[in-house]
Amino acid sequence: MEECVRCNNPISPHTGREIEGLTYCSKCADSHNQSLKQKKAEVQKEKGEILRERDAIEQEMRTITEEDTRHIIVSTTDTLETGQIIDYIDVISVQDVVFQDIHIDPAQAEGPHDLAEKLFRNRIELSLSKLRKRAYLVGADAVIGVHIDSSMEQKPEGEFTVAVAIKLNITGTAVRLTTHL
Ligand SMILES: [Zn+2]
Repeated sequence: MEECVRCNNPISPHTGREIEGLTYCSKCADSHNQSLKQKKAEVQKEKGEILRERDAIEQEMRTITEEDTRHIIVSTTDTLETGQIIDYIDVISVQDVVFQDIHIDPAQAEGPHDLAEKLFRNRIELSLSKLRKRAYLVGADAVIGVHIDSSMEQKPEGEFTVAVAIKLNITGTAVRLTTHL
């Protein structure tokens, strides 16, 4: 006679239930499904909370101006000469993914490569300004050890169009300094 994989009790003929290739008695099958349902609901709830939190951050980011974040230093190094680090707040990051068609004007001197480069530099600038805003939100004076991971792909789409895909991931450590600039 077959045994339930969960409680090891023998399963009477034709009452076993198969879940993901394993055979359960009907009682264990019910409680297994119940706990799966519960887990799903928990994950769903967590997802909702993360999304709400993200929305709130985005909302707050929109109210921060360039002026607010002008004083925030962004550096690729781990130390700064302009001030002593007194507090490591958090690792912060900004992601950006762009798919864009670039249309080339044959009368213009700028070729597809130049235009793609220009778009790429713009997206980095935008992401760095977002990073400053994130830093501002957590009360930082500087972001140190900033690292930019990036990739750009270009694919011709017809004679005067180039499809560009850009992926950016910028991370750094938000810190507080003894002296403000
Ligand atoms: Zn069982």
